[in-house]
Amino acid sequence: MPSPSLFGVTPGALTLALAIALVASLLLKFWLASRQIRHVAQHRDAVPPDFAASVPLAAHQKAAAYTIARARFGLLNLAFSAALLMGWTLLGGLDLLNGWVLQLAEHLPADWRAMGYQLLLLTAFVLIGGVLDLPWEAYSTFRIEQAFGFNRTSVQTYVADLFKGLLLGALLGLPLAALILWLMQVAGPRWWLWAWGVWTGFQLLLMLLYPTVIAPLFNKFTPLADEALKARVEALMQRCGFASKGLFVMDGSKRSAHGNAFFSGFGPAKRVVFFDTLLSKLQPGEVEAVLAHELGHFKHKHITKRMAWMFAASLGGFALLGWLASWPGFYLGLGVQPNLGAPNDALALLLFLMVVPVFGFFVTPIFAQLSRRDEFQADAFACTHARSQDLRSALLKLHEDNAGTLTPDPVYASFYYSHPPASERLGALPGATAGATA
Ligand SMILES: [Zn+2]
Repeated sequence: MPSPSLFGVTPGALTLALAIALVASLLLKFWLASRQIRHVAQHRDAVPPDFAASVPLAAHQKAAAYTIARARFGLLNLAFSAALLMGWTLLGGLDLLNGWVLQLAEHLPADWRAMGYQLLLLTAFVLIGGVLDLPWEAYSTFRIEQAFGFNRTSVQTYVADLFKGLLLGALLGLPLAALILWLMQVAGPRWWLWAWGVWTGFQLLLMLLYPTVIAPLFNKFTPLADEALKARVEALMQRCGFASKGLFVMDGSKRSAHGNAFFSGFGPAKRVVFFDTLLSKLQPGEVEAVLAHELGHFKHKHITKRMAWMFAASLGGFALLGWLASWPGFYLGLGVQPNLGAPNDALALLLFLMVVPVFGFFVTPIFAQLSRRDEFQADAFACTHARSQDLRSALLKLHEDNAGTLTPDPVYASFYYSHPPASERLGALPGATAGATA
């Protein structure tokens, strides 16, 4: 291995960079969340004038309470996640776990001890993380969502989901991890290029399998039975020059009252899926408008572009990991003693996956901005192929049903929001003031 200093970067400098980035991102997140909470609370008592005719005060106040409850919970969770990250890295948690797993792995047959140790380490890490995360997720579902009337998940469904997720994660994740770890061992200094190829192929395979194999494990999909709506939707798709392998209704109401519509899969596996919760709330014209919006994303190639971005970013990520993994300072600087008698690749993967989001957080607003631009484009497309009045009323209904706030803090919204705030979004639709529903 090269010396602990890499191009003049010492382990101590890496420690410092992580500490600074973590503190800076925490401060920024706390500042943004407290702005959001304050802004929403200040505007709780009056519906904005543009929406006064269409949104009742009670719905507006419910949205404010929901937004604030989620933001406060987010702050607590944030503090916990930061402490956990410090615990794993600089305070020595991963180093400790690694020591135990190394000892455990000594009982494995020598032939596959190295791989067995690494897969055990990854599994132990994921399981511990999952257990620590569980109370937070359960609280979010059974307390916050429940309190606002959104939760429809039974404890039984929740536990079943957990086990299915675990099983699926093991079936898909372990072979993928083993393949990448093997490449890191045998493919030479350019292993990261091969690993990226495997990763990319795996992502594409997941997208192909998701609609027909994975999603049905969690939800029921039934062909859209409403003939009138079906005819309408098919006519829209024909107008837009779009073909898909069927229209389906998903029992989203099994878990949540939040409604949605989406396309899943690509190529021959492409499907249009409506949540049953969406169909129960919207008129046929509104459903058509929502679907036209989704078609807009396709026509503007937003999904393809996002995938291209994702693949480019992961190529950069793998290249960076390829560079860092061979540098002892990467481990030492993040609180882990590199192994002498066993491969370090699993350690490198874990450290990398923990640390990258800390630095990646700072580019959030760029991607949020790009995403909001896409939403405006999709809305514009929808308005040329469906009635803009229908899109307007559909968006308002969905907004109200999801208890989205009409008065987000502008700075918070521009940093995080993947969709434009309702006032901007409705204001951009052709030919009306934001809230008019007539
Ligand atoms: Zn959209």
